[in-house]
Amino acid sequence: MYDVIVVGGGSAGLWTAKTAAENGCKVLLVDKRAADDIGKKISYDSTPPYVFEQLGIPLPSGKELDDTGDVLTLVSPNKKHRVEAPVPNVLFSRRLVGQRLAGYAADAGVKFMYRAQVLGPVIEDGYVVGVRVKHLDSCDADGRGDEEELRARVVVDASGFYAVIRRNLPREILVQDPQYGEDVVLGYREVRRIVGESSDCPPPEYRGYYDYLGYHGGYLWIVREENNWANIGIGVQDCPGNPGPVKPVQDFAADNPAIGPECMARGSGDPMYIPLRSCQPQLAANGFMAVGDAACQVRPSTGYGWHTGLLAGDIAGEVAARAVKKQDVSREALWEYDVQWKRGLGAILASFDAIRIMCQSISNDELDILLARGILGSEQIEALWNDKPFEVGAGKQISSFFSAIGHAGLLLKVKFVIDSADRLYKLFSEAPDSPEGLERWNSERTGIFTELRSKLGATVHEKDYLGGMEKHEL
Ligand SMILES: Cc1cc2nc3c(=O)[nH]c(=O)nc-3n(C[C@H](O)[C@H](O)[C@H](O)COP(=O)(O)OP(=O)(O)OC[C@H]3O[C@@H](n4cnc5c(N)ncnc54)[C@H](O)[C@@H]3O)c2cc1C
Repeated sequence: MYDVIVVGGGSAGLWTAKTAAENGCKVLLVDKRAADDIGKKISYDSTPPYVFEQLGIPLPSGKELDDTGDVLTLVSPNKKHRVEAPVPNVLFSRRLVGQRLAGYAADAGVKFMYRAQVLGPVIEDGYVVGVRVKHLDSCDADGRGDEEELRARVVVDASGFYAVIRRNLPREILVQDPQYGEDVVLGYREVRRIVGESSDCPPPEYRGYYDYLGYHGGYLWIVREENNWANIGIGVQDCPGNPGPVKPVQDFAADNPAIGPECMARGSGDPMYIPLRSCQPQLAANGFMAVGDAACQVRPSTGYGWHTGLLAGDIAGEVAARAVKKQDVSREALWEYDVQWKRGLGAILASFDAIRIMCQSISNDELDILLARGILGSEQIEALWNDKPFEVGAGKQISSFFSAIGHAGLLLKVKFVIDSADRLYKLFSEAPDSPEGLERWNSERTGIFTELRSKLGATVHEKDYLGGMEKHEL
């Protein structure tokens, strides 16, 4: 019997496990990957450097680090408007830093079980009391292999997008949102050789990256890697009618004389999906917590979930350990995690979600106007890319500008979105301090999103992602 079983060794799971172990728990981390593959991802990822300082660990260096930057250029869909903002950034090897995190967890006493696929939760008397696993190395050609049941006082779902435990919990245990395709992006990247210069590609001395808006409800990024390679990637909203993520990246490269055909790496990694939305309504239940992508704790403005998973794990690990010590792992005892997340970074990310829904549902022409007129200006971009509370400073100027040139419809939408962002921020900042308040709080939260979508004319479609991989085979 373990105190804590963590399902998944991504950033969220590794940091939760390490923190719980440092606080006295007997922890098991289970991952379907082999030890060497922990953290593995195609090429480099970006993250804000503040997370390393906040958690008291060294910034990536040596082979872990590709480059650091301090600026971002956001480009409008018609490519005529560019806004530059201060955005500190580290481009780092997910695998190598993942291995470093696994080392911290092992040093704290965490036990690892690799190549073990978690199949689902074990539930008894309204509590999650364990997990069922299949040992992949024992599998025959039909995928049948040795299975076992593992028990713990607290089970933490850190299994990423597919959330193998959370999605298998009934509503009596956990309140969850329906899964909408519109809240998911398909990620993909190619690492291409740079063979020249063009205005669409950051010049060699540029200390940052370019992000392009207007890509099928998503965004396309280009960042230079070492030795004249460029990491060109995309997140495309997963809704009916959108192309997969591959063609837009290849079209962008084909239209850009600076980018050559030579490709060092391409793909999506596993999983290819990003839950581009704010967190699930309930994060803790009897004997259960969800962290990272499994709880949708992603920054909705950019799809960055590596650092948010670490920050969530830091809270979850401590709260789990306190509950174990008190021998009370009820949802009441674990609720402090829910509260700390929602009232902290969760509130900021929830406000970003209103902006995300707006950017995905207005037309490209309207996005052009927002950038051209500074509604999405440097200050706003700085906030949205650095996890700072979002403010539109130019309220008065917006009114006069729009009434003057006749974009009253867009102005009304923007005002409603900003109001919704404020309401979400306030609602999350005042998240209930016990589970009794969840129902009322959640109905207000759902109401804000429903009204926002309706004002923006944004539709949603439920989608079952458990069979989704085949559909988007690359
Ligand atoms: C193309 C692309 C580019 C991205 N770029 C960035 C970026 O630049 N910066 C950024 O911050 N984020 C980026 N993201 C998002 C980021 O990858 C995720 O938000 C982040 O990895 C979430 O961390 P996690 O620990 O929650 O989950 P994951 O990293 O997904 O880790 C989950 C772990 O659980 C294991 N697992 C899953 N299911 C099971 C199971 N059934 N049994 C056992 N183990 C299981 C997996 O093997 C994995 O180790 C990108 C995503 C994509 C697709």
